[in-house]
Amino acid sequence: ATMPPLLSAIANAGRHGVLIKSAVVMERLGQTDRIAYDKTGTLTEGTPHLVKILPEPEPGPGFAENELLSLAAAAEHRSEHPLARAIVAAAHDLPRGETHGEAYDFRSAPGRGVTATVAGREVAVGSPERLGEGTAVPDTDGTAVVVRVDGVRAGWLLLADRIRPGAPEAVTALNRLTTAPPALLTGDSSRAAHSVAERTGIPSDGVRAGLLPHEKAEAVREMGGRVLFVGDGVNDAPALAAAHTGIAMGRAGSDLALETADAVLVHDDLTAVPRAVALSRRARRLVV
Ligand code: ADP
Ligand code: MG
Repeated sequence: ATMPPLLSAIANAGRHGVLIKSAVVMERLGQTDRIAYDKTGTLTEGTPHLVKILPEPEPGPGFAENELLSLAAAAEHRSEHPLARAIVAAAHDLPRGETHGEAYDFRSAPGRGVTATVAGREVAVGSPERLGEGTAVPDTDGTAVVVRVDGVRAGWLLLADRIRPGAPEAVTALNRLTTAPPALLTGDSSRAAHSVAERTGIPSDGVRAGLLPHEKAEAVREMGGRVLFVGDGVNDAPALAAAHTGIAMGRAGSDLALETADAVLVHDDLTAVPRAVALSRRARRLVV
């Protein structure tokens, strides 16, 4: 027997690295009117690295650079967030005796950051906007994370992330397949968001920054039309569920994103998304 068009399209998409969970999803992909992208781990590689440590100057609490990094890394130790991993990795280079041991009362809030007790101190590391430090953010094209110790701003960690190879090409190809302009939805700061939008071909009026997970989902609903959302994180799960079609990054993606999504990019290759949309449209022309 010859395979029904939607099933051969699923097989074909699979060869291009898109795992599509059902025939219904294969059909829906082609109906896409608009694309919304997550930033960190989706349009970027999601493996940021620490580029600068900025302890708060006088009259701040007066931590040395190494001390600030060490406190932050101890608090981040149990977080799976890419920013947390970069901070922990940077602290591995600290001299022995300048690292803090275990953290207690670890708490993680998706889209916000972490808090923990380290050496008897309350340490919070996370989004400046969410921690009430939005007006003090240092100048950076990357991501600035604030460190607060015992309720006082102790300094900043600046991190940078690379654009994922293929991301600009994928955005361009998807722009051709859709009529409405694309959007970038992120929990990160407006400045970091606009820098990535500019480098990937997303118009600046499509950028929404500082979003909490449920706000990303709202943004998807407010976009109107049938939205294809591409994301990777735990924080993207609500948006993946709210979208007409949700696609998760397979390698970079969290388990929750992979489970919630309708399709998975097995090799994290974004250029497979326009291919899958085109395959769906072709299959739909064959299904009558
Ligand atoms: P994105 O939408 O770009 O993937 P997230 O929603 O995961 O970003 O995170 C949004 C913001 O929250 C980050 O830019 C960062 O400021 C902060 N944040 C979240 N988790 C952490 C963490 N573990 N450590 C430090 N900052 C964090
Ligand atoms: Mg992400």
